Amino acid sequence: MNAAGQVPEEPVKLEGFAPAEATDLYKKREKIFTRYVGGVYQKLRFYTGWPLLLGYFGLPWLMWGERQAVLFDLPARQFHLLGLTIWPQDLWLLGWLLMISAFGLFTVTTLVGRLWCGYTCPQTVWTSIFMWVEQLTEGQRHQRVRLDKAPWTWNKIWRRSAKHIMWLGWAFLTGLTFVGYFTPIRELTVDVFTLQVWGWSPLWILFFTCATYINAGWMREQVCTYMCPYARFQSAMFDKDTLIVSYNPERGEPRGSRKRNTGATELGDCIDCQLCVQVCPTGIDIRNGLQYECIGCAHCIDACDAVMAKMGYAPGLVSYTTENALAGQPSRVIRGRSIGYALICAALIGAFVFMLFARVGFGFDIIRERGELYQVVSGGIVRNDYQLKIMNKTQRPADYTIAVTEPAWISLASTQRTQVAAGEIENLSLQLLADAPQAPNAPNAPNAPVKIEVCEVQTATCIQENTTFFAPMSSATQQTGVR
Ligand code: SF4
Ligand code: SF4
Repeated sequence: MNAAGQVPEEPVKLEGFAPAEATDLYKKREKIFTRYVGGVYQKLRFYTGWPLLLGYFGLPWLMWGERQAVLFDLPARQFHLLGLTIWPQDLWLLGWLLMISAFGLFTVTTLVGRLWCGYTCPQTVWTSIFMWVEQLTEGQRHQRVRLDKAPWTWNKIWRRSAKHIMWLGWAFLTGLTFVGYFTPIRELTVDVFTLQVWGWSPLWILFFTCATYINAGWMREQVCTYMCPYARFQSAMFDKDTLIVSYNPERGEPRGSRKRNTGATELGDCIDCQLCVQVCPTGIDIRNGLQYECIGCAHCIDACDAVMAKMGYAPGLVSYTTENALAGQPSRVIRGRSIGYALICAALIGAFVFMLFARVGFGFDIIRERGELYQVVSGGIVRNDYQLKIMNKTQRPADYTIAVTEPAWISLASTQRTQVAAGEIENLSLQLLADAPQAPNAPNAPNAPVKIEVCEVQTATCIQENTTFFAPMSSATQQTGVR
């Protein structure tokens, strides 16, 4: 803002990334009417976008044996990823995956800049679809500008209605699919379309429908500019060798309009046609330099290359390049920063794979039964009751044996061996027995630590857990007051 409190109309020319303060958070949003552009990079976006969309909408429908291949089953506290089941005890695996994703993103950003933003970010992909719907219902850029200014005639009403109905339909499918990652999607879809869905599911579907509709339909570039944290911190990963979309001022300036086939001129190659601005989904002028609003989508490259072709000039006035290349310096792909991120990423992946395969395929919990601490049964034997939960984390049934390894004077009431189905939890009652403290061989203490061991028969893998055994106090302990 200037001293008079007004927003300058001309964009500020920036060296490198615009600092965060350059964004006026209270500035009224100017509507952006993006012009359609074809070209090499738009084809690339098409070929990368569709597999991503198919993956998002198709993955929850994929089955893995009897169950959904990808299902984050929150009530059962099990996350199924193809053949892998992640239990609450294994949540660190998800944390590890997030760290791998983060360092993968850092590595990619260092090398190729905002490739993620321009081609694969859901906000970009969904916004592109919403823009396509807008063009389908309201026409090309000039028609949309005219329609926006036009009074509310029948033509405007039906076009706007069709657009919003299609947006809402797509947003609803997005929300339904998203919830289908957490609730079995086949049953959910049937329930939704037969109006028999209850509980939290319809609320979450509504929430994600609204979020998609607002983000991709109304907020669009504002999500990238004001809300996305990655847009803010990614500049820290950039250096002079990072791939960016840039205008070549050496070649383009001084800019100026001219007719096609104009002979030699004092002007640079930029004919100031504004097409690069009109196609930009974030509404910026790439000729003002590198700006953090730029998502690297390359619409401006395709638009400018088409203009250059018409003018008979070489393509590349706006191009993917590096700051070093623009300055006439050699660009390096392999450099300390990119090697560092790649090494960390590779180490994280290696450790993750190792831990995944070294992971024990089962776990168990032992919990004391509520109520009495102990019971004295016939023959002066003391009994303690427990609940044992065995979790089979594998995708096959498994047999388990249960034993007391310490102390030797505590034993199981009966031999315990059980089978647990694939991915299931088995609850067992467990009774431990010991002589009462008054008996000649019993230790003179009212409680004792006990080690329970569960072994998987098929793999001969064993895990031990500790619990406590309680007994009545002996006359000796009562006399000394020891507990
Ligand atoms: S599209 Fe190319 S020629 Fe046209 S204004 Fe942009 S940079 Fe200049
Ligand atoms: S300046 Fe070019 S690359 Fe950057 S967001 Fe706009 S159109 Fe996309």
